[in-house]
Amino acid sequence: MGMPPTRPAQSVTAAEFAQLWARLQAMMTRAVADGRIITVDSADRLALPEGESRRVYKQERCRDCGTPVVLGAIEGRTTYACPRCQPEWGG
Ligand SMILES: [Zn+2]
Repeated sequence: MGMPPTRPAQSVTAAEFAQLWARLQAMMTRAVADGRIITVDSADRLALPEGESRRVYKQERCRDCGTPVVLGAIEGRTTYACPRCQPEWGG
């Protein structure tokens, strides 16, 4: 289950943080090896066009579940989230 970008940091439990940190480390390690950030899990991910290489970022629909992506703003930065995969959006 994903975590919404609106989730206050102080509400993240130690177990959730450990899981998030491990996932981020794996993603960043893969991004360095790939030479770009690709969040779609696919064996042929390097062949994906830039516009199709991310699950929710700049997508109309979540690439995992097809739910329309919700845009928001946090500290002036546009955020993208799937309300189904990241269910606390706006909550
Ligand atoms: Zn989704």
